[in-house]
Amino acid sequence: MIKDIIIVGGGTAGWMTAAALSKVLGDKRYRFRLIESEQIGTVGVGEATIPMIALYNNVLGIDENEFVRETNATFKLGIEFRDWRKVGHSYFHPFGLYGVDMDGISFSHFWMRWQREGGALDFSHFNVETEAARSNRFMRTMHEAGPKLMPDVNYAYQFDAGKYAEYLKKRSIKQGVERIEGKIVHVQQDPDTGNIASVQLESGESVSGDLFIDCSGFRGLLIEGVYQAGYDDWSHWLPVNKAVAAPCEKVGEPTPYTRSTALAAGWQWRIPLQHRTGNGYVYCDQYISDDEATQVLLDNLDGKLTADPRVLKFVTGKRKKCWVKNCLAIGLSGGFLEPLESTSIHLVQVAISKLLAMFPGTHICDVVVRRFNSEMADEYESIKDFLIAHYYVTEREDSEFWRYVRSMEIPAALSERLHLFRSRGEVFVRQTELFKENSWFSVLVGQGMVPQSYHPVADAITSDELNLRMVKVRDGIRKRLEMMPSHGEYIARHCASQGGVSR
Ligand SMILES: Cc1cc2nc3c(=O)[nH]c(=O)nc-3n(C[C@H](O)[C@H](O)[C@H](O)COP(=O)(O)OP(=O)(O)OC[C@H]3O[C@@H](n4cnc5c(N)ncnc54)[C@H](O)[C@@H]3O)c2cc1C
Repeated sequence: MIKDIIIVGGGTAGWMTAAALSKVLGDKRYRFRLIESEQIGTVGVGEATIPMIALYNNVLGIDENEFVRETNATFKLGIEFRDWRKVGHSYFHPFGLYGVDMDGISFSHFWMRWQREGGALDFSHFNVETEAARSNRFMRTMHEAGPKLMPDVNYAYQFDAGKYAEYLKKRSIKQGVERIEGKIVHVQQDPDTGNIASVQLESGESVSGDLFIDCSGFRGLLIEGVYQAGYDDWSHWLPVNKAVAAPCEKVGEPTPYTRSTALAAGWQWRIPLQHRTGNGYVYCDQYISDDEATQVLLDNLDGKLTADPRVLKFVTGKRKKCWVKNCLAIGLSGGFLEPLESTSIHLVQVAISKLLAMFPGTHICDVVVRRFNSEMADEYESIKDFLIAHYYVTEREDSEFWRYVRSMEIPAALSERLHLFRSRGEVFVRQTELFKENSWFSVLVGQGMVPQSYHPVADAITSDELNLRMVKVRDGIRKRLEMMPSHGEYIARHCASQGGVSR
């Protein structure tokens, strides 16, 4: 019987796992214990999210305004990519749709035809999140009675990762999770089954359990340390392998989006929170030294530095197996896709929901383990290709780094996808993929790829009808924008943290 569940690690992954498991499975049948070591600490970055996090928060019964207040969060409508296609160019990858799908095909095909016929507006003007981001506005969708004429405003959050873990820790402890402080120095396996029987702390205390969830971060203390699960290294496609992070004082109202600015050896993030701005230069150390990268970051800050710069090292890729015997890796111990599209916390959430869906009863079944591993591998794989496309499709060739990524050999599946998009303006995505056609469209066109044609259904209406439809969509977006207050104003009215946002 699985009764005693041990979570190793108290970073974002550990506390997200503890909070969800104790909420969903939390009754007297299980005992949950989380071991963390203050001596080792957490990665401590990871401030930008994608909209699915709201589902996780809902499962926990979290009040959104309270959560935003407690974590100094802001709202995020998407990512602005500066200088990625070429220096001086920028585009926005929003969370929502462009226009509305019509006659069974995506709006983008109608836009492509319209543009060929002289339509003046860039596709980004047909997306409410992009328009709101451009004018620094934000408002959650109000669900009025009656038919919904436009889709919801889609958003995620930018928050203080330390405060989020703290917030979840409080909830977990209330839900019965026991926290154990201490450094694990030894792991005891059952000699017959090979299962982990217990972990021993530096203090000499031994903690035994039936299921061990490895949230120990990059080191993969159990999954790699005990089981040598192996790692698929994807750094030949995604070569950035270091980041220097440095928070600074906020200047003015926080923007409702994350900014990624391409630099000579990688890219820089800018994540506005209510009380400060998070910044980092993600780079490949083959092309720039740590000192140089730090200097570039410091020169680019738009406020006064509030903590010393910190360099982090990583290898983009994934664990070959995330579940081995009675040990399951969640978070950085399971893999890491560089943070360009803020997918790590999402992958933590995905692993938790799969674990809950496949939760073992009396014993751990091999079929379930295999299923979990193959589904997690698919999740990582599909995001990986989307990330590679950001680098590969570019006009930049002004540094050795950019010359490498634009000419590197890419995975065959991605190559096929790009070919299809170039010829028909379409992307075929599987239902389980995280990034849908809309995301691929905005990034590929944003990066400079121009489709040669579009879906023939878009030719089935007259030019007058097409114009009418475009005007209607555009008007709908304008009306929604007019209703939106500024992002700062919205936060101040609903969910300002103490000493947080200024209008
Ligand atoms: C540069 C960078 C930028 C990122 N940006 C984003 C982003 O914008 N959005 C996003 O979603 N994600 C982002 N991430 C990822 C995000 O930071 C992580 O997914 C998240 O913090 C989860 O980390 P973790 O809990 O798996 O590991 P960690 O934070 O490393 O926590 C590990 C825990 O294990 C404990 N531990 C380890 N060894 C032992 C031991 N021997 N004994 C006891 N305890 C032990 C530690 O004390 C700690 O509590 C970023 C990551 C990096 C590197």
